[in-house]
Amino acid sequence: PLIDDFSVFEELESNVRTYCRKFPAVFHRAKGAELYTEDARVFIDFFCGAGTLNFGHNNDFIKRRLTDYLDDDGLMHGLDMYTQAKREFLTAFADTVLRPRGLSYKVQFCGPTGTDAVEAALKLARKATGRTGLFAFTGAYHGMSRGSLAVTGSRSARRAGGISGQDVTFLPYEDGPQGTFDSISLMERLLADPSSGVDVPAAVIVEPLQMEGGVYPASPDWLRRLRAITERYGILLILDEIQAGCGRTGRFFCFEHAGIVPDLVTVSKAIGGYGLPMSLVLFRHGLDVWQPGEHTGTFRGNQLAFVAATAACDLWRQEGFQTGLATAANRLAQFGRDLAAEHPAIAVRGKGMALGIDLAAAGGGERAEQVQRYAFNNGVVVELCGRHDEVIKILPPLTIDLARLDRGLSVLRDALLRADL
Ligand code: PMP
Repeated sequence: PLIDDFSVFEELESNVRTYCRKFPAVFHRAKGAELYTEDARVFIDFFCGAGTLNFGHNNDFIKRRLTDYLDDDGLMHGLDMYTQAKREFLTAFADTVLRPRGLSYKVQFCGPTGTDAVEAALKLARKATGRTGLFAFTGAYHGMSRGSLAVTGSRSARRAGGISGQDVTFLPYEDGPQGTFDSISLMERLLADPSSGVDVPAAVIVEPLQMEGGVYPASPDWLRRLRAITERYGILLILDEIQAGCGRTGRFFCFEHAGIVPDLVTVSKAIGGYGLPMSLVLFRHGLDVWQPGEHTGTFRGNQLAFVAATAACDLWRQEGFQTGLATAANRLAQFGRDLAAEHPAIAVRGKGMALGIDLAAAGGGERAEQVQRYAFNNGVVVELCGRHDEVIKILPPLTIDLARLDRGLSVLRDALLRADL
């Protein structure tokens, strides 16, 4: 077999790279829930491109649509012109996702990454309300550009980005490493007091399930109270569904668990179906205050991503998909319950096909890193999250077969049980 050769990367690629340090291998092929390296190792993928590959790698149904499109010399770039691929995606998305949920949103294609959708949502909220302030939450992750970083909680990331936090008020997320907090009451206190020093903001931006923050799901009740208070004060509610959306939690949108309807929704990652870049903002029709060309971009809508995302909508509707997802999610939840029962020091949280194993009281970030390394050495790719990387974040493909799911989980279980990592 080939020997891993990282020399080109080490010589030429920026020091900013991260994942390659945790997963030292050269990957070149992948199928379903498996990754293959140049030196012929096989890994079970519990990371899925940070929640991007809901249908696994190289899903055959989506691949066929893509290869047909390529064979037919389908248009490859169209700025924001009308294209057939875009029409087919919009139609499939409305028929599969919006109309069955009674949602009536306009779609703005941003791109190519999730951060772009967050930027567009924040800009639109400010333009639509004429206000500049924003409320965001501790533990939040919304992106790395200056606008999205301003609503991201991480102090170190903000420092690296030179962010001062002007116009943004952070409130505690409902749950976090310091326990739960009634931030809606705090919000009410600040908004109702003319002397609080806090103006009514343009928008509140929130993840319904904080992933990077440590896999903390917000309760349906908290989200409903957030919806009620934002309505009362005329504040726009932006739900960031970039990592928790597209079926990851068992429903297409994570906010559906709370029965709320946000004013704006950011979507990216898994919406592209095949790992292709795509990001969009959904918003109420009345919020479409843009003049043509006020928010542009060369890569607004990748044609191949439209084709893949249309196929992904078709897969979502295919018989057996939802039941398969529910079965795998139950298996994952059972693993979490068993682990928590066996190890009272380990906290387990999650929803659907997202599970967080919190080692804060069981060795913290150092232990989590050992578990991650052991998992990698034993054929499982899994990422960490949380304030101090103390939470193991398990994000398998939604379509993973139970045998592989069990195999990957048993490697993690071994890692968590062993004292001598
Ligand atoms: N919001 C959330 C909730 C995310 O998880 C991420 C990515 N981890 C982003 C925004 C930013 O997306 P991207 O990295 O594609 O710009």
